[in-house]
Amino acid sequence: MGLRWYFAAPMALRASQVPDYLPSSWYNILADLPGELPPMKLPNGQIVEKLMLEKLFAKTLVEQEYSRERYIQIPAELRSKYLELGRPTPLLRAKNLEEYLGTPAIILYKYEGVTPTGSHKINTALAQAYYNKLEGTETIVTETGAGQWGSALSLAGALTGIHVRVYMVRVSYYQKPYRGVLMRIYGAEVYPSPSNRTSFGRKLLEQNPEHPGSLGIAISEAIEDVVMSGGKAKYCLGSVLNHVLLHQTVIGLEAKKQVEELGLYPDVVIGCVGGGSNYAGLSYPFIYDRLKGSSDTRFIAAEPKAVPSMTRGEYRYDYGDTAGMTPMIKMHTLGHEFTPPPIHAGGLRYHGVAPTLSVLINHGVVEPVAYGQREVFEAGTLFAKLEGIVPAPESAHAVKAVIEEALRAKERGRREVILFNMSGHGLLDLQGYIDYLEGRI
Ligand SMILES: *Cc1c(COP(=O)(O)O)cnc(C)c1O
Repeated sequence: MGLRWYFAAPMALRASQVPDYLPSSWYNILADLPGELPPMKLPNGQIVEKLMLEKLFAKTLVEQEYSRERYIQIPAELRSKYLELGRPTPLLRAKNLEEYLGTPAIILYKYEGVTPTGSHKINTALAQAYYNKLEGTETIVTETGAGQWGSALSLAGALTGIHVRVYMVRVSYYQKPYRGVLMRIYGAEVYPSPSNRTSFGRKLLEQNPEHPGSLGIAISEAIEDVVMSGGKAKYCLGSVLNHVLLHQTVIGLEAKKQVEELGLYPDVVIGCVGGGSNYAGLSYPFIYDRLKGSSDTRFIAAEPKAVPSMTRGEYRYDYGDTAGMTPMIKMHTLGHEFTPPPIHAGGLRYHGVAPTLSVLINHGVVEPVAYGQREVFEAGTLFAKLEGIVPAPESAHAVKAVIEEALRAKERGRREVILFNMSGHGLLDLQGYIDYLEGRI
């Protein structure tokens, strides 16, 4: 009699990762979005032109931000870097989770945790560093919360030979030091934010020398840094904007080929949402099919109850940062002065959500859901025990939604194909799991 294996090697249940599955173009949803995307505006109502954004961002990235072309070619050099960094990422089947839940559903996931920094963020970091390098930028400046984005951009800077400066939310800088170290290993300059390097940071530190900081504040500091650099530095953002979501579509374009290889097509596509980039990355290539009318796939986007921008936010123009230095973007927002509670899913602590995703929510294409921290860590822990991979606390929100959906499929007795994005691993986020295991969440 054979041993009952509780750890079914996911290797045997993966679609192949042939290089051809990595697309040669990104998919731009702006070509297919229902209705026009409201433009960025200044507080006086003036529409933001490309030239204004070029003061902050590399020119090519601004072109991509405004482009309505359906497919935008990935430069060959960049595509080979993607391959070197482990793309295509694996498409795995969570067979043990299916068995545990007793569901007829097939649960598939794209695993972005295999990249060197452990999340999907490198997909856009590499593109942003690459275009900046081509255009002669000396330094790229950014903000980071838990450090996923900062570490990805730091690595991208090291690989392309461009200097990186990161403003890291102060509480994370001190409480979660490992990703700050990673950034410094890659050669980046890292400052806790609020910092005394900018006038906005100094003002906040005068009011409160122990200020914990926030993502919105760190964005304000990074932008002030760029504005004061006199053209030497450019700004990079890790989510929300069109060009960032565009770069992430490699995830979904690969996944399409991989599910096809398995002879399947997803009935439901699930992911977690901070600013929306990993979710857009996986879902937009499938949303294309639904918008064309060739599928009736459902799209579920999960967020924390503590930062409910999609489920409770207002759809209106708002700033992207706390100080109000960015243009105004029409999106679902909790208000730029909203201070997110210190939940462990640092990557989901943002007051707004991508404008394209907001439009898709308004049209009922994407259904948002929100979960509490405890149920999320419970789902993450269960997944780790069954499948071996410890989900990032952000990704664990997607796992929670997957479990709910798989149980609904069980009730209805339907063999649904559920596809989700495991946006990263949680091996540098174990403090959250410690707090959960010790009953503090
Ligand atoms: C940053 C991050 C997120 C949230 O950002 P999105 O832009 O919504 O994808 C989710 N998961 C991981 C692992 C992250 O690093």
